[in-house]
Amino acid sequence: MKGDGSMALETLERLERQVERGSLFTHTALSETADRLTEVEAMLYGLIDVVVQRGAAGSAEIHAASSKVRAALDAAGETVSPGVALRVDPEIAATQAFVPVNCDERIPICGGICCKLSFALSQAEVEGGRVRWDLGQPYYIRHEADGRCTHQDRDCHRCGVYADRPAVCKGYSCANDNRIWKDFDKMLLNTEWIEQNFASSLPQLVRAQMQHQDLLAPPSARVKEREGSQ
Ligand code: SF4
Ligand code: SF4
Repeated sequence: MKGDGSMALETLERLERQVERGSLFTHTALSETADRLTEVEAMLYGLIDVVVQRGAAGSAEIHAASSKVRAALDAAGETVSPGVALRVDPEIAATQAFVPVNCDERIPICGGICCKLSFALSQAEVEGGRVRWDLGQPYYIRHEADGRCTHQDRDCHRCGVYADRPAVCKGYSCANDNRIWKDFDKMLLNTEWIEQNFASSLPQLVRAQMQHQDLLAPPSARVKEREGSQ
């Protein structure tokens, strides 16, 4: 049994990992958004200059047209956003029949490996507040540093939120999942796929804007470079 100090440290480490992952997500999402905005801004100002110079339209006319486009983008949900994922379940029930699995017999072999699979939560599951999502990959189920779902009991491999588990978990059966079993009947795990796909749980950048080395130099150095190249 763990002491109070050890449990507090474990909780703090989990929190730190989530803050780190959340920060990586925020930085990369903002970087991508800023990159897209800068590109759009440059193109738009260039285009407006050309249009006004050629007398094809006045600035009031351009403002009215841009308001119309903005309203249409808002209505279509296409305005720039940091990019998150929510699962939308199909309205019609799955046609494939659910195959029950004898987890009790298999857990000593599989170790509840299915709870390492990653999936997005639905809006209702996020708003329900029972299932935790990953700050580093909103709104995917939260995994801890060992790659397992945060809700899985590390000793018995059972689900800690069984009654409120996501619909994906309720409908999941590993009977036909050849990522998990090489031979389901013989209880032979697909160790190659498992090792290849569940090996690393290190923090990863979701998306990041890449800059050339010369753009990282101080502004004065870049000015000198440009002057020298003319
Ligand atoms: S569903 Fe399959 S992989 Fe998951 S605990 Fe049960 S037997 Fe193991
Ligand atoms: S919510 Fe429960 S069943 Fe679903 S992945 Fe997590 S521990 Fe497994």
